[in-house]
Amino acid sequence: MTDTTPSHAVPPSAAVALATAVAELARTERLLLALDFDGTLAPFVDVPKSARALPQAKAALDRLEALPDTWVAYVSGRPLSSLETVTEADADALLIGSHGVEIRFGRDGVSLDLTDDERATLEQLGRVLGALVESVPGTRLEVKPVGFGVHYRLLDGDGGADVVARAHQAAAGVGDALTIRDGKDIIEFSVRGANKGDGIQRLREYTRATAVLFAGDDVTDEDGFAVLRTDTGDLGVKVGEGETAAQFRVADERAIATLLTLLADARGATRSSSTA
Ligand SMILES: [Mg+2]
Repeated sequence: MTDTTPSHAVPPSAAVALATAVAELARTERLLLALDFDGTLAPFVDVPKSARALPQAKAALDRLEALPDTWVAYVSGRPLSSLETVTEADADALLIGSHGVEIRFGRDGVSLDLTDDERATLEQLGRVLGALVESVPGTRLEVKPVGFGVHYRLLDGDGGADVVARAHQAAAGVGDALTIRDGKDIIEFSVRGANKGDGIQRLREYTRATAVLFAGDDVTDEDGFAVLRTDTGDLGVKVGEGETAAQFRVADERAIATLLTLLADARGATRSSSTA
């Protein structure tokens, strides 16, 4: 028998298993929802700052956030300032930006506290990568909180590969402790290594969650799935195609919105019956 189901579609049996897992998750004592933003809650748009979560997802998250012992957190590769804007974060928001490097837990802003060494490395990195993009038309330098990104979307394949090689070479002269991320038409160098898994661990400690839901669509979200404790009730959901360590997969942002709605319904019922 030939299976014609697209690889990212959820077969019915898996959908039932996911619904069961969501119902189970709703019953945990202290629930943390750690969610990637772009491609998970919000569809991709041309202007990054105009991205917003789907209204259904936003409504479900607002309901969940209002429930006792329930926390909603955003875990993104965006710089924190950008994440604050697109999530329309209020004063109590739990935000992890820059792939785990920047943290804001409500009013407890966690500053970056760069060491002198890190600051010196950052300056040097900016100089060498700045010189590189100036010498290669079609490239652009993005300043990040603890590093730099070299964009090369306008170059063809060979040109792009050449820039990546030259960027590696330039950065190698700065130090060997840099964190390097090879993205789509961008290569990033950071003086501080952290990933979404680190961010989720910080959130878990901060909220003392007894179970965590993490959902994400990109390669960098795999660091998040890697720290989940599925044996004690954590739930990982991959959005869209691509290899993953997550237990479950859904097709798109709309499916996540539905999942969050089911969770809000189930959690709402549990919480109100337990306090009645
Ligand atoms: Mg994403």
